[in-house]
Amino acid sequence: MTEKQKLFDNVGIGEDMLSMEHITKIYENGFVANSDVNFSVRRGEIHGLVGENGAGKTTLMKVLFGQETPEEGRILIGGQEHKIESPLDALEYGIGMVHQHFMLVDNLSVTDNMLLGVEPVKGGIVYDRKEARRRVIEVSKKYDLDVDPDAIVGDLSVGYKQRVEILKILIRGAKLLLLDEPTAVLTPQEIKELFVQLKKLKEQGFSIVFISHKLNEVREICDRITVLRLGKSIGTADMTNITEDDITKMMFNRDVKLKIDKAPAKPQETVLKVRDLTFKDAQGKNAVSHVSFDVRAGEILGVAGVEGNGQAELADIIAGLLPIQSGDVLVNGRSLKSAKSIREIREMGVSLMHQDRMTYGASKDQSIEENIIADRYYQKQYKKFGLLNWKKVRQDSKEYVKEFVVKCEGPGAAVKTLSGGNIQKVVAAREFTTDAKFMLVCHPTRGIDVGAAEVIRKKIVALRDEKQTATLLFSADLGELLSVSDSLVVMYAGQIVAYFPDASQVDEQTLGEYMLGVKKQSDEEIGGVLFA
Ligand code: ADP
Repeated sequence: MTEKQKLFDNVGIGEDMLSMEHITKIYENGFVANSDVNFSVRRGEIHGLVGENGAGKTTLMKVLFGQETPEEGRILIGGQEHKIESPLDALEYGIGMVHQHFMLVDNLSVTDNMLLGVEPVKGGIVYDRKEARRRVIEVSKKYDLDVDPDAIVGDLSVGYKQRVEILKILIRGAKLLLLDEPTAVLTPQEIKELFVQLKKLKEQGFSIVFISHKLNEVREICDRITVLRLGKSIGTADMTNITEDDITKMMFNRDVKLKIDKAPAKPQETVLKVRDLTFKDAQGKNAVSHVSFDVRAGEILGVAGVEGNGQAELADIIAGLLPIQSGDVLVNGRSLKSAKSIREIREMGVSLMHQDRMTYGASKDQSIEENIIADRYYQKQYKKFGLLNWKKVRQDSKEYVKEFVVKCEGPGAAVKTLSGGNIQKVVAAREFTTDAKFMLVCHPTRGIDVGAAEVIRKKIVALRDEKQTATLLFSADLGELLSVSDSLVVMYAGQIVAYFPDASQVDEQTLGEYMLGVKKQSDEEIGGVLFA
């Protein structure tokens, strides 16, 4: 055992084993993901690290695991400052991390995966497979985490793979386990099993950092929690001393409210009708479960939810990127099932701002004007003697560049020369000028500067007022969702759990309670008013 490995062993159960002080992490693009964060772990505890998407939880754990170097702050182990230089170094100290996306090699066996890079050898050179198998069986028994050493990882269920990942760090000597949203990918049965296993590990003196958004899980399994909000540590508390109300407040209360000048909506006829939509994902889980709602002309309906609760699938079904497995989606009375391509969906009067703007929004090698006309180059207005009327294209593009304040050399500039915010404005210049009756807008301002965000938000509201567009808005930014939307629904575990006809009457904390599954409206409350 090395000196580093002994450090945690000298700490008694219930005592502080590690603390992170004043950690600040700024990513290369200038984004401050952790700002003066304080965090500590005791030996033999399960410590929940909670906060909204983007609060900085993964970043903090990556700093602890030696994957990211902080700009400021220090890590103390046993009262002494230590630098954790890399994941290998972290493992030397006994810190192991299980990422959200598993790092296993599918075509190798459980044994080969678990000992990858630390294989036992015989005769100094040859991989000793027998010894490797023996060790896998030994740790599997020791920690009561059942695995078949010979199973091929690619054939295993997600829950099983996760067990292999946990064993993989245990076999490397981890005493502190960092689990990044371990339940996000699991079925309820698998979650139960995981919790039993984690509690057993805790009883054996292991410490676990458990990242989660789900308050019921945190309540069930954690001894203490630390809340992060917008990159800052808000506080640490004993689970016995804190109510769900307190946690929600810590997670969602914001000091600054986003303001957008807008008159109350005057909704008219129904444009988008979603009925009893259910979607099973590749794991057989109901990602979207019996979802029904309407969006009316002149109305912006916002969809709130912690990421991973079915919003992405719902949006992709409405965009025509995922199939309608069960239920229906109608635009102006016509089912999307009758459209054979994305172009046909667009021709039904749908425009789309997808969350993945580089895949589904902009083509970076093409010019601004080519991007703007990508959906309309075949229309009569852009044709002259059977060819593309470049003069008209340039003229219109110039106007759009001005209207959407795209900072560029001119409409002929390649999109890849623009900043993220300006690329999104180019996408908006196309999608917000289609005369579509229905707009699907997903995370329109994620990762872009404040100025660009304001241009886009104001345009969404302007389209509602000037063209009576029906808009369905998905956003992880609650400030944006509350200020832009007229009405709101909340998704949790694939279902709509709340409907608020007037978004201006809702605050972030109330929304948070529904997003975290603490509260749920009755079917009458949700359905009765949601659609006629
Ligand atoms: P959480 O785990 O709480 O959801 P993260 O730590 O993953 O939050 O991210 C915090 C913020 O940092 C997010 O806004 C995210 O977009 C940003 N971020 C994460 N990784 C990077 C990176 N490599 N470069 C720039 N920004 C990043």
